[in-house]
Amino acid sequence: MTKRREGGIINNGEMPERTLTDLQFRYETHVHTCQASRCGVSTGAEQAEFYHSLGYQGIILTDHFFGGNTAVPRDLSWEDRVKRFCSGYEDALQAGKRLGLDVFFGWEQNYQGDEFLVYGLSPEYLASHPQVETWTRAEQLRYVHEAGGCVVQAHPFRDRDYIPKITLCDLFADGIEAANFFNHPDWDARAYHFGLKNHLPMTAGTDNHRAAGFVEKGETPFATAFSQPLKGIEDFVQAILTNAPMELCVTEDRLNPVIPPAREVYRLRQDETRERIFAPGEPWVTPSR
Ligand SMILES: [Zn+2]
Ligand SMILES: [Zn+2]
Repeated sequence: MTKRREGGIINNGEMPERTLTDLQFRYETHVHTCQASRCGVSTGAEQAEFYHSLGYQGIILTDHFFGGNTAVPRDLSWEDRVKRFCSGYEDALQAGKRLGLDVFFGWEQNYQGDEFLVYGLSPEYLASHPQVETWTRAEQLRYVHEAGGCVVQAHPFRDRDYIPKITLCDLFADGIEAANFFNHPDWDARAYHFGLKNHLPMTAGTDNHRAAGFVEKGETPFATAFSQPLKGIEDFVQAILTNAPMELCVTEDRLNPVIPPAREVYRLRQDETRERIFAPGEPWVTPSR
């Protein structure tokens, strides 16, 4: 077994007092379906079956929303677009009911390569709020809060061609996705230490587009785990908003050591100007532990 669950450290950089084995309710916080994401390969039902087979307590569907790589045509009515968008989730939900897996709804919105996981709003909310599509980052945070949800920046230090500038948007989110299975481990280590230093709630997710790939390779996806099962997505939102202890279930040593970035890293300020905070190769200051 080359993978094990790494201890989660959330609000203050301390290890939770409980032991890792106590935190046994695992959730996938970042998963796509082919019904709603253009890059998705597995159906919602296939994803549900996959995570159920691994003993997860639940999954949160986060298909690419309309600013990202959506599979939903733009020339339909808003109602039909939302219906199509939610069809992967609905498929997973039906399978989850049959299997005994909790299935929650969310989405992943894209701005300029910086992406956000939105949790806690419902398909009904989307259907009645077409303005969601045109929200700025600040509006997104404000209106998601007003509706009882939360916003987590996905893979903030990801360094890929489709991302014009690595932009940390922690001021426009409630937390960050510190570990993302398909990231390079260095990117996750940077995110994790940035999160520790700034006392940000942190999650781990897989960004899983294809359940079969994991089955074939025998790999273990990431998870965020809790000591008690979540009664609903609102419990997850509360955990993020209160910076409650969560275990990041990731590959051993995933979040260390921190290698300086090869590209500039910017932080988006409140006025939306980008401020460079890390130059390429600059020594990385590891927060004291
Ligand atoms: Zn994708
Ligand atoms: Zn994603």
